[in-house]
Amino acid sequence: MKIIKLREGKERSLLRRHPWVFQGSIAKGGGDAGETVRVESHEGQFLAWAAFSPSSQIRVRAWSFDEAERIDEAFFARRVQRAVALRARLGIQSDGVRLIHGEADGLPGLIVDRYADTLSAQFLSAGVERWRDVIVRQLLAATGLQRLYERSDSGVRGLEGLPPRTGWLSGEGSTELAITEHGLSLGLDVALGHKTGYYLDQRDNRHRFAQLVRQFGCERVLNCYSYTGGFSVAALAGGAREVTSVDSSGPALDQARANLRRNGFDPAQQAFADADVNQFLRQALKDGRRFDAIVLDPPKFAPSAAHAERASRAYKDINRLGLKLLAPGGLLLTFSCSGGIGAELFHKIVAGAGHDAGVDAVILQRLEAAPDHPTTLCFPEGEYLKGLALVAN
Ligand code: SAH
Repeated sequence: MKIIKLREGKERSLLRRHPWVFQGSIAKGGGDAGETVRVESHEGQFLAWAAFSPSSQIRVRAWSFDEAERIDEAFFARRVQRAVALRARLGIQSDGVRLIHGEADGLPGLIVDRYADTLSAQFLSAGVERWRDVIVRQLLAATGLQRLYERSDSGVRGLEGLPPRTGWLSGEGSTELAITEHGLSLGLDVALGHKTGYYLDQRDNRHRFAQLVRQFGCERVLNCYSYTGGFSVAALAGGAREVTSVDSSGPALDQARANLRRNGFDPAQQAFADADVNQFLRQALKDGRRFDAIVLDPPKFAPSAAHAERASRAYKDINRLGLKLLAPGGLLLTFSCSGGIGAELFHKIVAGAGHDAGVDAVILQRLEAAPDHPTTLCFPEGEYLKGLALVAN
C-alpha cells in the first residue's frame, strides 16, 4: 500500500472529513492514476484511504476516514446502496432522479442520474475511473436496471488527465427517453443532452413555478435559458396564456417544442427564440414588451471564485433587464448555478440589479437544488444552485 504523507499542519481538513487534498499539501508519496493510497499526517497518523490523481490539482480524494474499512467491491456496493436508499426515502415526484451526487454520496467524481429505465453516468475523477467496472456492476445491482449510458465527456476530465468517453456501458438501444416529473412528461436524450441529459436539480423549482404562475395568475411568461423547456412546460401547466422560450441552442429548442407538444399544449401559446438572452432582453425592452413572469436560469457564469467578479456583472445585467421587463406585480425566478457565487453574494447582486432597475421586490422564497442533489456538512463546497422567487412591488 502506497503512503501519501502530508506536510506539517496540513491534516486539518481531512480530520474534519473534508475529502480533498491539494497538491501543495503533500510532502511525499505518489501512486498511479486512481490507485488507493493511505494518507498520513506529517507525524504518521492515519487520516484517510483515498484515490490518487497524479495530474490533478486535487491530488487526493478520500474514500474513507475509517482505518478499518477496505476499499474493495463491497465498499462500492455499500456506498451505492446507501445513495440509492436515500433517494427512495425522499418522496421524489419523478422517475428522473439523481442517484449519486459525487462527494455528497462519498463517491468523489461520480455523477449518476436515473431517467426512467436508464442510468446516465459521468466518471470525472481518476478514482472512479479506475473502479468503473465495479461501480457499473453495483449500480445495476442496486437499481435492478439493465441500461447504463456513459457521458464522461465533461471538460473537467481533462484536469484529471482523462480523455472523453461516451457510449453504452450496459444495455443498448435508443438514447431518447422520457421522464414524468410532477405529472409532466419530458423527453430527453442521454447521448445528446447537456451533462447526463437533463437538469434534474431544478425539478422542484419548476414545480414551484407552475404553482406560483397559477397563484399569481400570470399570463405572459418568458423562460430565459430555457434548455429543453422544463420551465415553459411548467408555466403552461400553471395556466399561463403564452410562454416564450429563449435559448442559444437550436437542438435544445427543438426538444423544448417537442416537450410542449408531448403535454398537449396548444402551439399558438408558444414562441421560441434562438437567441442570446442578453440581446433578447434588450430588444424586448426597446419594443416595450412586458411579462407577468420571467425565469432566468443561466449557465455557470463563474466556474470558480476567481471568476466571481466578472460573473457578478453578468448576473447583475440580466437581472436588471429581467426586473425592468416585469409587469407590475410580476414574478421573477432567478438562479445562479455557479459554485463561485454564494447565496449571500447572489442576493446582493440581485438587490443591486433591482436598485439599478428602479424596482423593489418581495422575496417570496429562497430556492435551491432538489434534495437528491444533497450538500453535506463536511463538504459545503458542494452547494452550487441558489435562486430567488421575487414578486415586483
Ligand atoms: N432551465 C433549464 C436549464 C438551463 S441550462 C431547465 O430547467 O432545464 C442553461 C441553458 O442556457 C442551456 O440550454 C444553454 O444552451 C443556454 N445558454 C447558454 N448561454 C446562453 C446565452 N448567452 N443565451 C441564450 N442561451 C444560452
